[in-house]
Amino acid sequence: MNDKTNGWSRILPPRQPRPALQGELSVDWAVVGAGQAGLAAARRLAENRPGDSIALIEAGEVGEGAQGRNAGFIIDTPHNVGSSLGELSAARDHVRLARSAIASLEEQVRKHGIQCDWDPNGKLHTAVSPQGIARVLKPTREVLDSLGEPYTWLEDKALHERIGFKHFAAGIHTPGAVLVNPAALSRGLADHLPANVSLYENTPVTEVRFKPGIRLSTPQGTVRAGKLILAVSVFAGQFGVLRNRLIPISAYGSLTRRLTEEEQGRLEGLRTWGLTPANAFVGVTVRRTPDQRILIRQDMRYEPRLVRDGDSYPQVAEHHQALFDTWFPALKGVNIEHTWSGFICISSNGGAGFGEVAPGVYTAVCDNGMGWTKGTASGLLIADKASGVDNPLIATYESFGRPALLPPRPFLDVGVRARFSWELWSNRREA
Ligand SMILES: Cc1cc2nc3c(=O)[nH]c(=O)nc-3n(C[C@H](O)[C@H](O)[C@H](O)COP(=O)(O)OP(=O)(O)OC[C@H]3O[C@@H](n4cnc5c(N)ncnc54)[C@H](O)[C@@H]3O)c2cc1C
Repeated sequence: MNDKTNGWSRILPPRQPRPALQGELSVDWAVVGAGQAGLAAARRLAENRPGDSIALIEAGEVGEGAQGRNAGFIIDTPHNVGSSLGELSAARDHVRLARSAIASLEEQVRKHGIQCDWDPNGKLHTAVSPQGIARVLKPTREVLDSLGEPYTWLEDKALHERIGFKHFAAGIHTPGAVLVNPAALSRGLADHLPANVSLYENTPVTEVRFKPGIRLSTPQGTVRAGKLILAVSVFAGQFGVLRNRLIPISAYGSLTRRLTEEEQGRLEGLRTWGLTPANAFVGVTVRRTPDQRILIRQDMRYEPRLVRDGDSYPQVAEHHQALFDTWFPALKGVNIEHTWSGFICISSNGGAGFGEVAPGVYTAVCDNGMGWTKGTASGLLIADKASGVDNPLIATYESFGRPALLPPRPFLDVGVRARFSWELWSNRREA
């Protein structure tokens, strides 16, 4: 489906995509997928091997995949879809990796003057119910204490004063997170790649051969590559790798129209903020953006067909509008302008598809919903690994393990849907 509903890119000026690949191409490196992982991998390869040729091949347009459809939180402290205990126990590694990714992104933003509303004022992790506070916020606070990380614990009135509406019982503000317009940052990274990277957009890879010699087919061309990095997220199975190990989840976001000066005056709280929920499946992510819109991210669905379901957008938009109207009665009449969805790639054990899967063929997929930090870090580190650069963070990333093998469909579908129902029911007070 050619789904151009992404609100983050719709509020930006139009961008001219790079031409699709035509004809035969021979390169030292091919990177497939220009999401956070692919953009980072191509950039780092180019830095490591300035004399090599690198083709970055993207099926759609940069900023129109999940990389530009997310909520725009670049998060440094532990936070995870499903809040897996494995992630919490690896908290120190997580912070180190996340900070290396943030530093790399910030360097690019500053160096190239990328206009992406880079907002380095941290974010809140919030809970609605006593259960959410006890099960998620208090353990998170303990992790932050043990790491020696700064944070502010906010309850009721203090929280309300910061965000201007009442819904959450408590929140933890961590100062190291950054908020962005994700489509603008993705575009900016793509438009300032080093000179030895050629980006081809609207170029889906339709066939791949790993041996003898790596060869990719696209609708109007072929690519022969010395080495290959697959950064294709949930689509890895279509390349014959990580089959039955990745779980595709659709997540939905909406943006209101821009608030007028007068409406902004009616809204209490800080001018910009962002909050993530204690339970990512049930809870809601909300932002007040620098350009004065409200973002709402709620609703997650298992999507094994790997197709963005545009038919569900009106229903989701209505739901997001109802949430907005409840929380911001002073803004009656402000409508949701854009609703969209994108794919999150998760594994059942929090493992990542990071490593060499065949001679000269590498994957950097499955960041478990942490695209800006873990996705970016996986791209940087897979490039280091593939080009033989010694980096101690490679072992850190490898310590997350591989995605566990899943049962075949339809057993998988039954299992995932049962898990979803359980998450929704057992965390219903966090909605
Ligand atoms: C609504 C929503 C909110 C989210 N919020 C956040 C957030 O606040 N912070 C955060 O860090 N993460 C968030 N995420 C998750 C984040 O967006 C993903 O984890 C991240 O985008 C994954 O990065 P990636 O590079 O692995 O994959 P993607 O960004 O999905 O990129 C993979 C690319 O591969 C391309 N591709 C696939 N198949 C082919 C092929 N055959 N040929 C060529 N190209 C191909 C795709 O077109 C795609 O552009 C959110 C996701 C959603 C949907």
